[in-house]
This record gives sequence, C-alpha cells and structure tokens, in this order.
Amino acid sequence: MKIYALPAEKTNPALFFDMDCTLYTHDEYARSQIDLPVMRLAQMRGKSFEQMKSEVAEYRKTWADTHNGESVSLGNIFLSFGISIKDMVHMREELYRPEDYLTEDKHLRFTLTRLVSRYKLAVVTNNPVSVAVRTLTILGVNDIICKIVGLDTCYLSKPDKEIYLKAAQLCGVSPRQCISVGDRYDIDLAVPIKLGMGGILVDGVKDVYSLSDILL
Ligand SMILES: [Mg+2]
Repeated sequence: MKIYALPAEKTNPALFFDMDCTLYTHDEYARSQIDLPVMRLAQMRGKSFEQMKSEVAEYRKTWADTHNGESVSLGNIFLSFGISIKDMVHMREELYRPEDYLTEDKHLRFTLTRLVSRYKLAVVTNNPVSVAVRTLTILGVNDIICKIVGLDTCYLSKPDKEIYLKAAQLCGVSPRQCISVGDRYDIDLAVPIKLGMGGILVDGVKDVYSLSDILL
C-alpha cells in the first residue's frame, strides 16, 4: 500500500473505492475481464484472438510510449478500436460473471462497516453499475456502499475527471473531502490527486482490510 495524499479538508469525508482488484483479489476473474471483450472484438472484426490480443498490447505500448509510461483503460482502448462506451457497457453486462468467481467477504464487510461510521463510501468503477451491484452483492457489501458511479453513469471511462467530480457531487462533498482508493495509479489516483483528493494505492483487498485502522 502507498498513501500518496490525504485530503486537506477533514470534515464530512468520503472514500471512493475502485472495485476490480481493489475490493476483491481474483486473478482469473480479472483476466477474464480483459480476455472476454478482446475475444468478442476479435469475432466482430473477423480476426483471431491472438491477433486481436497483440493489437491491443501494441496499442497499450504506443500509449505508454507517448504518455510518459502511463497505462490506459480497456474502455478507452476499445473506443479507439471503434467500440462506443455504450456498446462496451452492454458487452461487459453480457460477458462478465462475478457470480462464477467471487464469494462473500466477511473481512471486507467488517472493514467497510467500521469505515462507514465516519466516511461516505462510494464505488467508482469502469464496470457498468449493474455489474458493480452484482459484484458488491456477492461480496456482501452492497448495502454499505451509498453511491456507485460506473461506466454508464457519465458514459466516460476512468481516469476522466468528470467521473470523480460526479462521485463527489453525488456524495454532496467537495473534491478536497475525498480519498480515492485503487490498484492502478494512472487510472484510479493521478486525476483525483490533481483534483485535490487524497489517493491511496492498494495491492488488492488485503490492503483494504487495513484501511479502517489507518484512517479511523
Ligand atoms: Mg482496479
């Protein structure tokens, strides 16, 4: 875990959690969330999975080379391959199966139950809101999260700043009262920190378990 920044404003704070690879750790499910849309895109373009995968990898590399080594979200990669965010929402709703991989997480529920005594808790994800609700329900924490901002909330993909501003607006707070928590610096933290939010980089859900001791 690495704490990059904590917000200047201490009253009425909010915590924005990335979902995938932050609120759960499951390598196989995470990999399926990349492979299944790439497989679908390959079918749509009449290419092999291997060919499509290498084109996506090439796009990521070119992006990093021209953006100071930064990473790019799959939603924004697909946008450049001609798949709209709206189509990406439908694709993810159809292809992703959190039910097949995840189970209830009592330790996460214990942690979030402690945090919600002081923080407004929101999930800010590049998954559609419906996939987030399914995921959080399986993990056993959906009732603790007060707001979900997903790919179909603004029809934009993180790290677009509008998504974080929307989350702050829905929670009724200013960016200076928020902390963004996620597993990818470029996607989950860089923009929130520029907006004046705090930023905490985690290496999976085991780091999230320790947040209540750190933040309370
Ligand atoms: Mg993530």
